[in-house]
Amino acid sequence: MAKSKSEPGNRTPRLKIMQGFADQLPLNKGIDNPEFNNPNPVLRINSEGKILYANEAGRHLLKIWEADDGGLLPSSITEEILEAGTDKGMPLEIKCRNRFFSFNIVSGKGFIDIYGCDITSVTEREDTYRKIVERSGEGIIIADPDGKFLFLNQRFADLLGYGQKEILGRYGADFIYDVPEVIQTQKTRNQLKRGETVQQEIKFKRKDGRPLWTLYNASPLFDSQGKHTGNLAMHTDITERKKIEEELKRSEQLYRAIGESIDYGIWICDAEGRNIYASKSYLNLVGITQEECSEFGWGNTLHPDDAEKTIEAWKVCSKTGTKWDIEHRFKGADGKWHPILARGIPIRDDNGNILMWAGINLDISSIKDAQEELRRSEERYRNLVKFAPAVIFEMNLKGTKFLTVNDTMCNTLGHTSEELLAIRPLDLLDATGRMIFKERIKSKIHGENIINDAEIRILKKNGEFIHALINIGNITSSADNEPSVTVIAYDITERKQTEEALRESEKRFKELIKHAPSAIFEIDFEKMKFISVNDAFCTLTGYSWDEALSMDILNLLTAESKAVFLNRINKFSEGVRPDDGVEYQVVKKDGTIADTILNMAFKFNNDGKIVGAMVVGHDITQRKKIESNLREAQAKLNIALENGNIGIWELDLKTDVVIMDDRTERMFELKPGTFGKTYHDFEKLIHEEDLSHFQKASEKAITKGIPLDTIFRLKPKNDKTKYFKSKALVINDTEGNPSKFLGVCIDVTGLKEGTAHLELKLNEELLRSNKELERFAYVASHDLQEPLRMVSSFTQLLQQRYSDKLDQNAHEYIQFAVEGAKRMHEQINGLLEYSRVGTRGRSFTRVDMNQIVGRVQVVLERRLEQKKLKLTSDILPDVIADENQMIQLIQNLLSNAIKFSDPTKKIHIGYETDDGRHIFSVRDEGIGIDEQYFDRIFEMFQRLMPREKYEGTGIGLSICKRIVERHHGEIWIKSKLGEGSTFYFSLPQVI
Ligand code: ADP
Repeated sequence: MAKSKSEPGNRTPRLKIMQGFADQLPLNKGIDNPEFNNPNPVLRINSEGKILYANEAGRHLLKIWEADDGGLLPSSITEEILEAGTDKGMPLEIKCRNRFFSFNIVSGKGFIDIYGCDITSVTEREDTYRKIVERSGEGIIIADPDGKFLFLNQRFADLLGYGQKEILGRYGADFIYDVPEVIQTQKTRNQLKRGETVQQEIKFKRKDGRPLWTLYNASPLFDSQGKHTGNLAMHTDITERKKIEEELKRSEQLYRAIGESIDYGIWICDAEGRNIYASKSYLNLVGITQEECSEFGWGNTLHPDDAEKTIEAWKVCSKTGTKWDIEHRFKGADGKWHPILARGIPIRDDNGNILMWAGINLDISSIKDAQEELRRSEERYRNLVKFAPAVIFEMNLKGTKFLTVNDTMCNTLGHTSEELLAIRPLDLLDATGRMIFKERIKSKIHGENIINDAEIRILKKNGEFIHALINIGNITSSADNEPSVTVIAYDITERKQTEEALRESEKRFKELIKHAPSAIFEIDFEKMKFISVNDAFCTLTGYSWDEALSMDILNLLTAESKAVFLNRINKFSEGVRPDDGVEYQVVKKDGTIADTILNMAFKFNNDGKIVGAMVVGHDITQRKKIESNLREAQAKLNIALENGNIGIWELDLKTDVVIMDDRTERMFELKPGTFGKTYHDFEKLIHEEDLSHFQKASEKAITKGIPLDTIFRLKPKNDKTKYFKSKALVINDTEGNPSKFLGVCIDVTGLKEGTAHLELKLNEELLRSNKELERFAYVASHDLQEPLRMVSSFTQLLQQRYSDKLDQNAHEYIQFAVEGAKRMHEQINGLLEYSRVGTRGRSFTRVDMNQIVGRVQVVLERRLEQKKLKLTSDILPDVIADENQMIQLIQNLLSNAIKFSDPTKKIHIGYETDDGRHIFSVRDEGIGIDEQYFDRIFEMFQRLMPREKYEGTGIGLSICKRIVERHHGEIWIKSKLGEGSTFYFSLPQVI
């Protein structure tokens, strides 16, 4: 059995029909009702489906259902009935065989009455309607008065893109596109309520969000009481039409907007040429309204000279349909005449009839002005190119010919323009230049973005090249349509040369800096880092280049110097220019400190802020040390001068001015300010007896460079003699000429007196001991000589008397004895002489040592000549000494030198001063003495050589020693065996 319960949507419209039947039924009137013969089935069942009653028609129906009166209804039908029973007032439709029944269910106590009705014919009619409705291309709906959908066909659901079920029960307003439409719907519903039919366009929102436009035709539905039960409406899909309409509207708006926005005037005329629209831009230009423009009103703004012929021409055009193309003048709103280019075309229908005219009016005054401006600008450019201070030329792309060249090019290259036009551009370039040119032009052709600048060399007529910075323009076409490029070239030859020179100089400068003996470095104040340092910097600090560059500048300075450094930068920033060459203490890599002077040349950025400095540093550690030593020495000297009471004086040899310090003045007992300050004044202070030797010594010092070292007395004051020792040196000027005579003087009066006293005492001692020695020597010489004489006399007697009796050996022995006695005699004499050095010495006088040497030379003349020895001597000073002993001293030393020298050698007498002593020397080139005997030879009777070879007594040097010692001096020797000997003796200068 097919289930025939209709879809609620389908059932609802039938309700009305069903209700008609139901109303006729004797509801709940029991089975004894005379309506029992009702042709419509009536059944009563209990809740289990047991059939309690069936009328005739009911029983017929039971048969169809294969149930018996008093039995059970098929359970499926019972279920449907029970279900329908709860759905109050809703009839139940059931299909039995090929008939349709509608059942009204009425529940009673313990039973359910079922009133059936055969609705087959109604259902069939309804099917036909349904088919019509379902197949209709229109969306059909029934809605209640509030717009709630009671029914809708599939088409309507499809139009909205929803399923039917999704729409049913919802309100039309739920699907309306936007709010104003909703308001519209409200209005529509009110119209329908009033019984009016409504037609309107509605915009729905489809499930997929797209709009759906429908044409809505609705009529209200009323029940038998005239109550408005709902509305029946049909929706025709007009979305496509709406879309086209909207498209059209938009495009019209667009065109209108274009018409309004562009400067062209746009106009439309009817087929006969009457204006019906003019764009605002045109109306604004000529200053009239649309009304004034309409028809042929636009003609009123034409230039009087143009008016007639323009209108005439327009009439011809509109008659013949030929295109409108004319230039005429309109009076603008600004009062000026505007040249207007007018163009129009006819718009025709499908049959070729003119519908209207559309056209534009273009104000070409600005174009005309622009043309004029263009002409002027071109002239300007032409002049610019012609006279520009740069080389400008146009050439074809192949570089085979110049198309234009300017004056500067001719002047720069030395060609006339005719010559240039006959030259191939590429021939003026070197290989590199040609390559650059070709590449650049290729890139230009391909429209590549290239760096435009390039440096090339261009050949001049005289064979030289200029350096040029070129800029190749875009490719254009020349007057005769050949593609070309314009090139601007700047002559940078001079700049290049300067650059080159600069580079050279920079290189030299860099080298110079690198190897400069001073530390040179560059610093960046912002980072407090070194930018560069030179070799001397590395040597000074002990840091390598790499180490220096990575370190903080401030770490190189001691805390104190750091503060000075920062302060200096700050001060400079504030505009104060501090002194240059400030001293800093640099902490070297090994931790030691180097004193340096840094000279800074500051570097500024564009805002004038200090950003760095170039610094030259000098290591003054050594200088500082010397300065400190000097200061110390100065202090010591001052102490010494003060304590030693040493005065200083100075004679300027050029001006003869003598300057004395305070001490000298005091020593000379001068009242301050009384000294005349000339050399003459100075001499006046000296004792007359000492003056000549002072002058002599001074002269020697100045002329021969021998330092002055002398003692003199001042002119006695109050019978008191004052002794002064003075030493002085000649100081030369930068050219080596004596410029100053700088000296010191010491008051030695006290010393002199003390020494004299001491000497007296010593002399007494010495004299006593010497006397003893002499007595001994006398006794020795006398007493020893007597027996010696006896030995030698008797030996000689023996030789004479017994000569024939003695053999050769005896003679020889006798000879030895004689010689021995003779030698002993000499030695005794020598000893006597030695002893007399102390006792027979004379008093000391001033002795000129040059004279002494001269006298000795006379004595030894012959011996010198025999051996062909050459004797030379330095200039010797005066000494205070025993003259004879000086002769003896020099003679002993010289005769030894002669004795121990081979022929033709040299002997020299030298002189020097040392620390208050005269030092004399006698140098020979003889046999020399081994160092081990240096002391021995000065002892008495000590000889190193056999008598047979070098005769002598071995007493000469001991006498020398004794003489020198008597004069408070010393004697010593320097010698090398085989290379000669030098004997030195010193004599004190102060005695
Ligand atoms: P003598 O009478 O032997 O020269 P001296 O006392 O003068 O006695 O010298 C002692 C010794 O010193 C000499 O015998 C000689 O060996 C050595 N002597 C002295 N003068 C020289 C000299 N100029 N060169 C080498 N030897 C010397």
